[in-house]
Amino acid sequence: MTVTGFEQHFGSPAQGESSAPGRVNLIGEFTDYNEGWVLPCALEFRCRAHWRRRPDNKIVVVSQEYPGERDEFDGNAPYQQGSLPWANYVRAVVAASQTTGYPMGGIDLLLHSNVPQGRGLSSSAALEVAVLGALASAFDWPLETTEIARLGQLAENQFIGCQCGIMDQLVSAAAEPGSALLLDCQSLETTAIGIPEQWTLVVLDSNHPRQLVDSEYNDRRRDCELACRIIGVNSLRAATPAQLEAYRSEMTTSQFLRAKHVIEENQRVQASAEALANGRLTDLAQLLGEGHRSLADQFEVTVAATDALVAIAKAALGDRVAARQTGGGFGGAVICLCHHDDVETLVTAVHQEYGARTGLEATVFSSRAGAGLELVSYD
Ligand code: ADP
Ligand code: MG
Repeated sequence: MTVTGFEQHFGSPAQGESSAPGRVNLIGEFTDYNEGWVLPCALEFRCRAHWRRRPDNKIVVVSQEYPGERDEFDGNAPYQQGSLPWANYVRAVVAASQTTGYPMGGIDLLLHSNVPQGRGLSSSAALEVAVLGALASAFDWPLETTEIARLGQLAENQFIGCQCGIMDQLVSAAAEPGSALLLDCQSLETTAIGIPEQWTLVVLDSNHPRQLVDSEYNDRRRDCELACRIIGVNSLRAATPAQLEAYRSEMTTSQFLRAKHVIEENQRVQASAEALANGRLTDLAQLLGEGHRSLADQFEVTVAATDALVAIAKAALGDRVAARQTGGGFGGAVICLCHHDDVETLVTAVHQEYGARTGLEATVFSSRAGAGLELVSYD
């Protein structure tokens, strides 16, 4: 597709291409809103935005994933929802960009993405970062990576109405190929950590229907905030296991368990980053295993389907695979890290056993760690 596809839609060739990846979180679950650490990784699946400046102020956008649809709006007008849900993501990004005060011109955009949509791999962040890269290239905006991530997050928070943290956009913008990204959610400092060449990321989507996710998410968030207040710290990042024990009698059981998960999870992220840096898969297997158990028993956000996927992976490969539920919980996907040579054994076990145990079929994606935002000029 690419250049020719663009010409078919818009009559002349693209001037440039901006692309950004989807992501998966290796470890660090529910630590983001507690100002802790996360360890996400970009995938090789990417959203590409091909672009060409227009002589007027119009933004015209088409997506190869939504053939026959096209949105057109004034890039300098205030945000207004259009009739195409997918194109509202582009409108939201444009509206967020207006807050920078940089001059907005007209642009033709063609989107094309192989990030699976609505599967927790953050196709929306990939789109936002790719479109921001296209706008910055077309109009010469001097946007830093962190600013791109903040604008993508602003687009989701303020205009789409999704209260996500900054992890997805930041890893999509800043990832380095072949590396995971240790991200400090308080300072936004990032450290790339190389993933050994011989390892593959395998994402097992449980296809379990996710329900009650928002209300349960908010309940847990409130428990964390209350636990924080009882201990007397600004965020659970600053709380120690000893402090938590000291205040245990003043907390409800759920406040205590949620806080314990977060405090221990922060330690696991640090230890996982170190294990990854040293290529120690057995340690990582241990840490992700503990992380999953904590999600099951302390944060209480796993379901039988994701527990089964982790159990199947462990039964097949033991400590040769690191596996845990990733994302907002109550279903979603299990992330696995294992040696290339073990991928087939893992996938075969999942295909043989998951259906019989749960009545569901898993969708399997495998990928190396991908690159962050990439900009190409055709001029
Ligand atoms: P996730 O980010 O987990 O994939 P979201 O619901 O946050 O799920 O975002 C998915 C939405 O993003 C899609 O429903 C669509 O509106 C938009 N989107 C993602 N990729 C594309 C694309 N290639 N073209 C148009 N819209 C897209
Ligand atoms: Mg999303």
